[in-house]
Amino acid sequence: MKTRKVPLRRCVGCMESKPKGELLRVVERDGKPVIDPGGKANGRGVYLCRDEACLAKAEKKKALARGLKIQGLTPEDAEVFRDAFREEIKQ
Ligand SMILES: [Zn+2]
Repeated sequence: MKTRKVPLRRCVGCMESKPKGELLRVVERDGKPVIDPGGKANGRGVYLCRDEACLAKAEKKKALARGLKIQGLTPEDAEVFRDAFREEIKQ
């Protein structure tokens, strides 16, 4: 990569800053975390590497719920999100 500036975003799992395009954006919809595939949805967003290990770290720290200001994220919602995340990173 050249010295051209690319916007960096920080993964809420590993806390590393990476080019925005390498990360997955997550937004809040109806009190649940959802993947924002285009990275363009309005509102508050957090970023994750396309790596399940980072999701696991983020879950442990409750970084998604905190970053997205979700009150009382249920284990079911977390699981639905985990499945969606797995599907997304497969591609
Ligand atoms: Zn990460």
